Amino acid sequence: MKPVVVLVGRPNVGKSTLFNALTRSRQALVADLPGLTRDRQYGEGRVGGRSYLVVDTGGIVRDHDPLATLVASQTRLALAEADVVVCVVDGRDGPNPDDFLIADQIRTLNRRICLAVNKTEGVEPEVAVAEFHALGLGRPYAIAATHNRGLDELMTAVLAGFPAPTAEAPTGGMRIALAGRPNVGKSTLANALLGEERVVVSDRPGTTRDSIYIPFTRDGKDYILIDTAGVRRRSHITDPLERHSVAKTLQAVDEAQVVLLVFDAREEVSEQDVTLAGHILAQGRSLVLAVNKWEGLDSARRDWIRRELARRLPFLSFASPHFISALEGLHIGPLFPAMERAYRSGGRILPTPELNRVLREAIAATAPPMVRGRRIKPKFAHQGGKYPPRVIVHGNLVAETPDAWRRYLAQRIREHFRLEGTPVEIEFREGD
Ligand code: GDP
Ligand code: GDP
Repeated sequence: MKPVVVLVGRPNVGKSTLFNALTRSRQALVADLPGLTRDRQYGEGRVGGRSYLVVDTGGIVRDHDPLATLVASQTRLALAEADVVVCVVDGRDGPNPDDFLIADQIRTLNRRICLAVNKTEGVEPEVAVAEFHALGLGRPYAIAATHNRGLDELMTAVLAGFPAPTAEAPTGGMRIALAGRPNVGKSTLANALLGEERVVVSDRPGTTRDSIYIPFTRDGKDYILIDTAGVRRRSHITDPLERHSVAKTLQAVDEAQVVLLVFDAREEVSEQDVTLAGHILAQGRSLVLAVNKWEGLDSARRDWIRRELARRLPFLSFASPHFISALEGLHIGPLFPAMERAYRSGGRILPTPELNRVLREAIAATAPPMVRGRRIKPKFAHQGGKYPPRVIVHGNLVAETPDAWRRYLAQRIREHFRLEGTPVEIEFREGD
């Protein structure tokens, strides 16, 4: 699993800038989605072929009782998930009383800590960090987030000591992750999925009790449920922070081939749902939506939920919802073929001639608009990848293609190839 790196520091030291610099390429997709909250951001970064999750906490703000602030805030949630805490300070200011306060607070957390001295462009690194040894957080690293300076060195130090990713995910069954906000019924659903045929984990060679992978069989087929805290060892986990860790969910999504995103039929779609869905989409996973606690509700409610999903999560229109009751075991069976279809769709080969026929027909039905008096002319398409299917379209001015037309084309492709439960990514490339 990817290490979780949490950025802390007082306001204005450059945490968001650092977050953006570390996650640049991957965050773009998420940033485009409507309705995402920004109070606690999660992204993925890479250094030297290793990836990690990075969390921007939005800052520790000084208050009359700073400890209480820290304890109560989002920051505490993020810190609970941290493998490493990166304390960011402003190198142009010199250590500030609040920096000392924050240093004291994070030292009590029992986590690895790295100190990043930001805004040090144009200064000799040793000079820039000299005063910051006083914070007692170990060796300070000079960085300049706006100049991309020192970031690789910092992150290499941050990740030092974490075992290189060796063990590949087990084969022998589709890997499923459950995601959803607290209390929607994930643990209950996990048990319903595992059902009576559940295989005792420790009976399988190569799996230990601590494994996050729970192999099971259903209708003669093998599956692997990826455990997020609280599914299997539920009775032992008393800390709700651990049970509902966003980072753990993202790690599980990352390991999964299909994500089962669970909603509560009795609640509105929340900001948290939207944010989570955005991350799953950004990871490109195949997706099945389950609306849980469905027992006793009627078709009016079903219509309401469909509208609610379409309104808040328009970018998930490729996945249709299943109405289930985990508690009563209602409609659980059909989730399995749906997950199979979603995964197969994610891996579909899209033959070039067929893809180009779809492109031509799409243009004939609704041509892309003019830009600056000239017509956008897509000419040729081919598949550039799978999981999710990625289509590359070449042509004149295609880089200017509006988002609406991109979505339209993705929809035509999905319909033609009967893709279900997978996004289709489209990349426009100028020229032939
Ligand atoms: P946050 O409140 O800690 O998230 O800080 P921000 O990321 O919003 O940055 C605060 C200000 O510092 C912004 O104006 C940034 O452009 C600036 N800043 C961030 N990193 C650097 C840097 O490496 N050098 C300089 N000179 N300014 C920076
Ligand atoms: P998690 O936090 O997402 O893992 O949710 P849990 O599985 O712990 O369930 C939260 C609460 O919802 C528990 O009280 C469950 O009994 C209840 N619950 C789960 N599934 C259903 C369902 O299908 N119908 C109803 N009415 N309640 C459910």
